[in-house]
Amino acid sequence: MPASSSPPEVAIVGGGPAGLIAAEVLGRAGLKVIVYDQMPSVGRKLLVAGRGGLNLTHSEEFKHFVTRYAEAQPRLRPLIEAFRPEDLRAWSEGLGQETFVGSSGRVFPKAFKASPLLRAWLSRLESLGVRFALRHRWQGWDEDGRLIFTDAAGESVRVKPAATILALGGASWPRLGSDGTWVELLSRQGIAVSPLRPANVGFILPWSHVMRSRFEGEPLKRVALTFEGRTVRGEAIVTADGIEGGAVYALSARLRDAIERTGGATLHLDLRPDLSEEALVKRLGAPRKGQSASTFLRKAGGLSPVAIALLREASPSLPPEPGALARLIKAVPLTLTGTKSLDRAISTAGGVPFGEVDEHLMLRRMPGVFVAGEMLDWEAPTGGYLLQATFATGLAAARGVLARLQIPDAALTGSLSSATRQT
Ligand SMILES: Cc1cc2nc3c(=O)[nH]c(=O)nc-3n(C[C@H](O)[C@H](O)[C@H](O)COP(=O)(O)OP(=O)(O)OC[C@H]3O[C@@H](n4cnc5c(N)ncnc54)[C@H](O)[C@@H]3O)c2cc1C
Repeated sequence: MPASSSPPEVAIVGGGPAGLIAAEVLGRAGLKVIVYDQMPSVGRKLLVAGRGGLNLTHSEEFKHFVTRYAEAQPRLRPLIEAFRPEDLRAWSEGLGQETFVGSSGRVFPKAFKASPLLRAWLSRLESLGVRFALRHRWQGWDEDGRLIFTDAAGESVRVKPAATILALGGASWPRLGSDGTWVELLSRQGIAVSPLRPANVGFILPWSHVMRSRFEGEPLKRVALTFEGRTVRGEAIVTADGIEGGAVYALSARLRDAIERTGGATLHLDLRPDLSEEALVKRLGAPRKGQSASTFLRKAGGLSPVAIALLREASPSLPPEPGALARLIKAVPLTLTGTKSLDRAISTAGGVPFGEVDEHLMLRRMPGVFVAGEMLDWEAPTGGYLLQATFATGLAAARGVLARLQIPDAALTGSLSSATRQT
């Protein structure tokens, strides 16, 4: 770029983590950047993610890490290699938010929430000259290829930037801003979009009245769930109309697909995964000494009231024989009849297929328009994989803009990428 000319302007539509990391890279490269968002403030979903501890990324070995993206792995792998979990941690630490590895291997900021990180990030962006156009709802393109927004006053605003990054998110928790209305806008341009579907989501299970009224909100701690030969240990929570929680989310893609195919799915719940069936049989064979079934199961089986209620849901007259009872405790069948709706999911599957974008995440049918974050067609379990891919794709799209505008990748000095590491 000649020193005398003014830098090109880049529009970033969507101020979630994907859009904001792209803004940082482009701001560092000296470009004029405007982040448009329909909400009165940016990063709302990031802030809500912070309520549960803000699981930024995961510390497991890279070769395992990338398998979490299933079919999207081949396309996401090089992008995550260019911005690895340790880069995300270094970036967070660069904003004054030290991170730590929890017992499960998940990585969190020490503050355990998103607000200090977002505050520091926005002030860095401001110092880089990034501008924000809030309460600007993107409505597509006009016939001259200009982006159309409706501002807070209902006025139409049209702009023709040198490049555009769309980072509009999925469609879960739409009140936070990502409502998926972009699907229609891209479809109108002839861009294929895979249907948006709930990911990391709970399931519907028609509980009895007793179960619903007495145990809604109760956690089932340290259980193991098995579906289609895959077992996940963790926690599940009984809801009024079904079941949710970390262990359920981990199996949710397979469960969702099975329910779509066949209308239902049976999950097996091991209420005592740390005890072998034999050890359980031995304990349950002890004399009951006049104890009620519930007291006996609580004392001899080590089961909580909600666990005992689950056994009764599966088998109202509990098997009297220790062997059969132990088998039930190790594999309580739960028949799921539906997937909870997308607006209640943690994340979104579906979106812009990788076939629609080049290796810089630029739309093949719309040169100069890039796509990043959850609106791309990938899904991953909870555990920090969502934010890691969100950041990596935001960074990749920004680098794509720099390459297209033939601006040196000076943005990647500092702590933003493995590209700068000596190893
Ligand atoms: C409850 C919850 C907890 C979570 N916890 C974690 C976690 O601990 N770890 C993890 O890795 N992930 C977590 N996630 C997922 C993570 O927050 C998302 O994957 C991430 O925010 C996606 O970032 P994004 O930038 O792609 O989109 P978003 O963060 O959704 O941002 C998209 C932005 O685009 C704007 N926008 C949308 N449409 C328009 C339009 N037409 N015009 C203008 N602006 C528009 C929206 O207002 C929004 O600001 C959680 C999600 C939820 C809901």
